[in-house]
Amino acid sequence: MKLFLKVLWALGFLLSSVSHAQVDERKKLAFDAVERNAAQIALVGDSLYYFAELGMQEFESAKFLKETLEGIGFRVETGGAGFPTNVWAEWGSGKPKIVIVTEVDALPEGSQTPGSIARKPLVPGAPGHMEGHNTHGAVAVGAAYAVKQAMQRYRLPGTVAISFGPAEEQLVSRPFLVRAGLFKGADAAIIIHLGDNFGTGFGLLNYAAISAKFTFHGKTAHGAVNPWDGRDAVDAVELMDIGFDKLREHLRPSQRAHRTITIGGIQPNIIPDLGQIWWFVRDANAPWAKENYDKLVNVGRGAALMTGTTMDIEVVASAWPQLGNRVIAEAIQKNIELVGMPQWSEAEQKFARDFQAALGLKTVGLTTTPAELGTRPQAFSSNDSGDVTWNVPTGVLRFPASVPGVNYHNWQAAVTPISSIAHQGEVVGAKVLAASVLELLTSPELLAKAKDQFRQDIKDTSYFSLLPSDAKPPLDLNREMMERFRPEMRKYYLNKKPSFN
Ligand SMILES: [Zn+2]
Repeated sequence: MKLFLKVLWALGFLLSSVSHAQVDERKKLAFDAVERNAAQIALVGDSLYYFAELGMQEFESAKFLKETLEGIGFRVETGGAGFPTNVWAEWGSGKPKIVIVTEVDALPEGSQTPGSIARKPLVPGAPGHMEGHNTHGAVAVGAAYAVKQAMQRYRLPGTVAISFGPAEEQLVSRPFLVRAGLFKGADAAIIIHLGDNFGTGFGLLNYAAISAKFTFHGKTAHGAVNPWDGRDAVDAVELMDIGFDKLREHLRPSQRAHRTITIGGIQPNIIPDLGQIWWFVRDANAPWAKENYDKLVNVGRGAALMTGTTMDIEVVASAWPQLGNRVIAEAIQKNIELVGMPQWSEAEQKFARDFQAALGLKTVGLTTTPAELGTRPQAFSSNDSGDVTWNVPTGVLRFPASVPGVNYHNWQAAVTPISSIAHQGEVVGAKVLAASVLELLTSPELLAKAKDQFRQDIKDTSYFSLLPSDAKPPLDLNREMMERFRPEMRKYYLNKKPSFN
């Protein structure tokens, strides 16, 4: 090797090792910030747990997140895209802009005394965090604070943002947030969710879905005296149901469709002038789900024609499947391996095994090794954050904060979201999230590769909104239920202010 080349090579080596060392230092600073603030991070998650607000009614949660984030120097805007409880926070300026995407809504009838394996609602009948979305707030805020500390110390350019989208549990807000352009300037995003293991994934991670209510209007008449004068709206509902079952055979085997009859008449001798059927139509990708939905609409039209009724449609929600970016997934996976699983105490493992035994599950305890990359199959469920992933290169991060085998959307899942198991999961989740955001902020190569991957992934499927053009945010969703229970729930609020340092 010529001396000149040798010098160049040595210089290159030196530069790259300097930048690696710097990257490690930045991550270390972020990890220290997370550890130092573990109690504050836990307080964020615990405070949200007691608010336990249903989708679209996350007013206390949004206020608390706004105050907390403003307290650590972020600019916070609520009300984006016409959603009063939408929270968007930013720190820094200019490019690149990396967005943490998550949600903090609870579920109906999930109220439970934390830590109690026996069913014991805090407030009987009230909503509760039986999917642990409260931990999302903890991880997002903790990571954002740590990233900000590193950006300040190392004078890193760019913007870190957090998007708390309302009403994830009913697949509501993200298509609206995307349509309103909130993600326009974003270079990359990371979606976080708790799980019973530590992992990420890439490719199509779940299903596309369209949720719509079909309401039929007819004419009432006496069922025995003059039924020929009536036009039966519930007949239309039944015919739509039967019609779709005839259609099923001619849909792709990947499809899923399910319905419930939400208005089905009053009593047999009154011909009902009102009938309603609510459908969820899903498939492995959004264009297929839309195809199935369009066929369902035609079946509904046929049912209306057959019965002489009229039909109107309300699209309640829609979601694209989550598209995980492989390049970002690989970066996240490395950070998961760097941070490692929480060191579960014997008491935590014992609690998990006892809990599993009480539910008749395998007593496997808590997960002790991270999930391997590429082992996550496409799920049949849906999540409205999918819409973000077709507009911005997006990684997904699942952090270990719940007991394996305990299913979400059951009160049992509300037992642990403020336990030390959740707190430990929040700490490792915040570390991996901070490290991954920092990498996306500081490595132009990584970001360019992620964008290349994104272009590849979407080249055959360009995004279109599944929302009807006149769709508006459902502001009254869950309002009545939340207002009924909030006064009782208020007694449990922690009323503490996190103070990060
Ligand atoms: Zn969730």
